Amino acid sequence: MRIAIGQLWQETNTFNPLATTRADFEAFGILRGTDVVAHMAETNELGGFIQSLRRWPEKPEIVGLVRLPAWPSGRATAETFEWLKAELIGALRTAWPVDGVLLALHGALAAMDHPDVEGEVLEALRQLLGTSVPIVATLDLHANVTRRMVEHADALVLYHTAPHVDVFETGQRGAAVLKRLLAGQSRPVTAFCKVPCVLPAERANTEAAAGVSADLKRKLQALEKQPDVLAAGIATVQPWLDIPDLASAAIVTTAGQPELAQRLCSELADELWQRRREYLPELVSVEEGVRRAHEQAGGLVVLSDAADATTSGAPGDSVWLLREMLKYRWPRPVLVTVVAPEIVAQAQKLGIGANWSGSIGGIRDWRFGIRLPITAQVERVFDARFVMSGHLGRNLAIDMGPSAVLRLGQVRVIVTSRSGPHFAPELFRAAGLDPYAAVVVVAKSPCGFRAVYERQAAAIYSVRAPGCAPPNFWEYEYTEIPRPLWPWDEIDQWQARPEIFGGTQ
Ligand SMILES: [Zn+2]
Repeated sequence: MRIAIGQLWQETNTFNPLATTRADFEAFGILRGTDVVAHMAETNELGGFIQSLRRWPEKPEIVGLVRLPAWPSGRATAETFEWLKAELIGALRTAWPVDGVLLALHGALAAMDHPDVEGEVLEALRQLLGTSVPIVATLDLHANVTRRMVEHADALVLYHTAPHVDVFETGQRGAAVLKRLLAGQSRPVTAFCKVPCVLPAERANTEAAAGVSADLKRKLQALEKQPDVLAAGIATVQPWLDIPDLASAAIVTTAGQPELAQRLCSELADELWQRRREYLPELVSVEEGVRRAHEQAGGLVVLSDAADATTSGAPGDSVWLLREMLKYRWPRPVLVTVVAPEIVAQAQKLGIGANWSGSIGGIRDWRFGIRLPITAQVERVFDARFVMSGHLGRNLAIDMGPSAVLRLGQVRVIVTSRSGPHFAPELFRAAGLDPYAAVVVVAKSPCGFRAVYERQAAAIYSVRAPGCAPPNFWEYEYTEIPRPLWPWDEIDQWQARPEIFGGTQ
């Protein structure tokens, strides 16, 4: 038996003016053929696939297709879309014949003129494979799940957690579903329901002791323990996507049981809808957030600058918080990150100890950003290269390129050449800084940072700064999204009516 595995992963933010290109995928690390299996066996969904497949009693041959990941950023160009599709189709043609396909997708990849990249890719692969070869795809919890994706995959298996600490396990769950499909006792039946709301990420913490997100996670996990349920998921969607089909979704796949799938999917969708207001975040202004951080007597304060969250596809060069923090004197280090390759190059040239003067910020995000003139000392130059575990995965190699630390009193500006996880303790450590000893860490992340700071922080504030991934997104202008859609619009009455797919043979 031959099982093909592959990955196409990027979360798109259509407010980010920087287009995603082939070079962005190449910078993150493309792998083809046997290299996929050789290098990804311990990492993320692909690792989950590989480890599971290796434990099947009749060991299948694991055939690597291609790994195509890029860091979250702006819409992919149409050319990039065509190239991605051709890569996957070409890899599958080379791998042919196969008995099953496992794909690690994100589900919120949008390209110019192609708002549903994963849907189109699944459709193209289905055309090639026919209906007899099962396709199981994993998706991020922030996927914008479309009818097209559901139609062309046998099952979609979603992360259950935010922060995403179950990425590897989602790969294992995907492989388990494929195993059951290949055993062939019954055809998968999927109930799918779009829910007309888009939910802020701040309170979507499934790892919290209580609350709507934690409740829904527990419900999904319990459902997947039922013998006839293959997969159950809720996608609360990446909100910064101005595309026609944007909305949350509930999705349940059963082993040949349409009524069960329909009932469970309705229950999930109705609960998400009824509890949507519980997701509304408490936000503070930039001034208030920094003032509170300064007043905090001891310990670490984390300021979440969601609007510039590089994990949400924002450009990463907002300095709204930096500007405010420079108005205060701080007893211990304050850590803030900025993406600015040109400043790194200048700092490298100047050398450690020299002063750098110029304007920082507002180049990558020229729409919402500001330029801030500063003079700072070059404290360190380093390579922002590390292996990350926790939110977003397990053993994930990150390379944000040549980087520098600029110092203004206690304020350290960690300047990287490329975007990446601008909250990760591993990034600060690579810069020679201990985030847990800081007085303030600015996390460019709406929720994922909680996995590593929630327990250690004396206080956490979500700040309402301008940017490409604003926490108050419904106050920004969208032109493509379907209306009515909550929280842009109030909707008096809504009830789940799932659509049923598959299970006819
Ligand atoms: Zn996500």
